[in-house]
Amino acid sequence: MSAGASDGAELKFRDPGRAHELTTALARLVQSLGRAPVTLMHVCGTHEQAIARFGLRAGLPPALHVIMGPGCPVCVTDLCEVDEGVALALQGVRIATYGDMVKLPGSSKSLADAQAEGAQIEVVYSATQAVELARASDRPLVFFASGFETTAVATAAILLAQPPANFSVLSAHKYVPPAMEAVARLPEARVEGFLAAGHAAVITGYGLFEDFARRHRTPVVVAGFEPLDILAALVKLLEMIRDGEHSVANAYPRCVTREGNRRAQESLWRVFQAVAGPWRGIGVIPDGNLQLREEWAALDARRRFRIDVSGLKQATQSELSRRCLCGKIMVGLVEPTDCPLFGRECLPDSPVGACMVSSEGTCKIWHQYGGRPDLGGTS
Ligand code: SF4
Repeated sequence: MSAGASDGAELKFRDPGRAHELTTALARLVQSLGRAPVTLMHVCGTHEQAIARFGLRAGLPPALHVIMGPGCPVCVTDLCEVDEGVALALQGVRIATYGDMVKLPGSSKSLADAQAEGAQIEVVYSATQAVELARASDRPLVFFASGFETTAVATAAILLAQPPANFSVLSAHKYVPPAMEAVARLPEARVEGFLAAGHAAVITGYGLFEDFARRHRTPVVVAGFEPLDILAALVKLLEMIRDGEHSVANAYPRCVTREGNRRAQESLWRVFQAVAGPWRGIGVIPDGNLQLREEWAALDARRRFRIDVSGLKQATQSELSRRCLCGKIMVGLVEPTDCPLFGRECLPDSPVGACMVSSEGTCKIWHQYGGRPDLGGTS
């Protein structure tokens, strides 16, 4: 672990004076690098929400670009995964899923569209609630599970706790480290350092990123979610870039350790295995999807049901969908306001792309907080 990791423990998380010191340090560090812009990426919708909510970009030096990568699990749920959920629902299977998944467009329909046609879709707030719904009736219930490794741990826990026989899982769970690999390999992304999500690192430990940082010669700092957590992590990241440190720093030591939560990791990997799979707008990412292991076949909706998505495919994308820039936004090549549909044809109530659906999607967050003008400081 790099020096300075204990700084987070002393922070008063919303102290304006300390925030000013940190933004001043950021400006000094960017200037000392002698080049512009410097692009740093975070891979977490919760970080983007905090950055937007607290107006942090307005305090960043103009030459420092802090962009969001593929950090929204709903946004990266692929069309074909939504199609599977919709097909099952239209076949008469009850579906339980998280709220943001309901409006997510598939090839031709969302779960909301299926619901309008009579399908039974239940919104749940946790995997446990999905199991409770299954217990309340004999009818088959499929939990359409999305989320990164943090959420996948909760899905693993309910499978390990022997859910009822009418319960199964359609996994759209994703694994973030391979997506960081994909971004780091994109030459046009020009990302010089990554902020890793503190909540995921609570599970995985920050040691997970050490090999990545070394191989890509790109520092990684694990960050918490308070404004000063984020600013302090950005300072640390710029210091590491300045000093040529290709390692990992833990700027969230009050929650994250090098090893992470071993029991949670054991549960996760007992139930899931990482396989190549599609991420919406990005493509197939090796080891990017979490699939149920063979031992859990009886609880895997893909093996339990015949899922026929053929009626949902469309020969051509709609004109609006073709213009959606979500894929480029999720690898940090453009920003929401670069999309001509942002705030016009594409709105939270009538989303064209996945980034405008979820509360963790960059387009929805930017729209919620007033778009680029109120965020400031990014150009
Ligand atoms: Fe896609 Fe809408 Fe975002 Fe444009 S504003 S990139 S259409 S989600």
